[in-house]
Amino acid sequence: MLITHLPKLHYFSIFYSKPKIIITSTLLSKSKLTPVSHFSSITSAANTLLQTTPELQETKNLEIEDVLERPHIEISVEKLFFPPDTDVSCSGSRPLSSRILKGSNIVLSKYAGDAQVEQAEFVKSSVETEQCPSDGLPEFALVGRSNVGKSSLLNSLVKRKKLALTSKKPGKTQCINHFRINDSWHLVDLPGYGYAAAPHEVRTDWAKFTKDYFLNRPTLVSVFLLIDASIPAKKIDLEYASWLGQNKIPMTLVFTKCDKRKKKKNGGKRPEENLQDFLELIQKFFQTAPPWIMTSSVTNQGRDEILLHMSQLRNYWLKH
Ligand code: GDP
Repeated sequence: MLITHLPKLHYFSIFYSKPKIIITSTLLSKSKLTPVSHFSSITSAANTLLQTTPELQETKNLEIEDVLERPHIEISVEKLFFPPDTDVSCSGSRPLSSRILKGSNIVLSKYAGDAQVEQAEFVKSSVETEQCPSDGLPEFALVGRSNVGKSSLLNSLVKRKKLALTSKKPGKTQCINHFRINDSWHLVDLPGYGYAAAPHEVRTDWAKFTKDYFLNRPTLVSVFLLIDASIPAKKIDLEYASWLGQNKIPMTLVFTKCDKRKKKKNGGKRPEENLQDFLELIQKFFQTAPPWIMTSSVTNQGRDEILLHMSQLRNYWLKH
């Protein structure tokens, strides 16, 4: 979808559903307080700032630790993802900044709803697209490199500890595994790619069979491509994302393991830095910014947001 007539240079913080004041070192240094370096910690500086600045006192429910610890990525309007048929104006009943899903670039549309998972059951394993269920229910496919955290995410989405084990049973790892949710839609677990120990012919088959599924499955609403945000972008993931972009397969990037925040001594980057590098490297393959979201199966970050996003894509798909 092309976004036109948007005001330029509007930036949004991705971490707040309501606009809140982000305490940054700039804000601290602009205040008439003692410089930040004079405080024992940034938290104590922020606490003092909160007590003495009327502007901040008015901010309800400001969780200082949260604000300070969490990364703060700013996104320009052009890099937001607007689902089809979404009001892109900044006016209206709810301002745009309050309609961005936490930890993502995804704007909520009027189609969002029914995001609870009440029931989840394994349906079947298929070795080719033609064998997949023919009940016409909308579906979302989870795919990613082996070890990216796909099973953990699937279990976290359906709040079941072992549902995804079904896909890991010998004989089912190279299959398209369908799970029916609330009797109304499917989550599809595709085999992980890039498993170094896999023989060459298995890897080639894998590419052929999943690409056939992406190109020929009419009920596929969107692919959810999982990328490990705790490590730098991998060539195979970049190739995969660009293939989906070039073939115009609807896709959401799910950055996993975002709880792994410790900066490595050897210059390793934080999840949000790896995420931004990845987005920059693939942007030329997309006409408009693809939706992306940060997740962790350890903290459940992003879980409810993914389900809401799936609901808005699904409800739009069902009506069109
Ligand atoms: P799969 O091969 O893609 O299905 O990956 P798994 O779900 O089996 O996870 C692979 C490894 O990553 C396991 O050791 C998980 O415990 C770990 N893992 C998965 N998700 C997360 C996460 O969100 N945070 C952290 N820290 N580790 C994770």
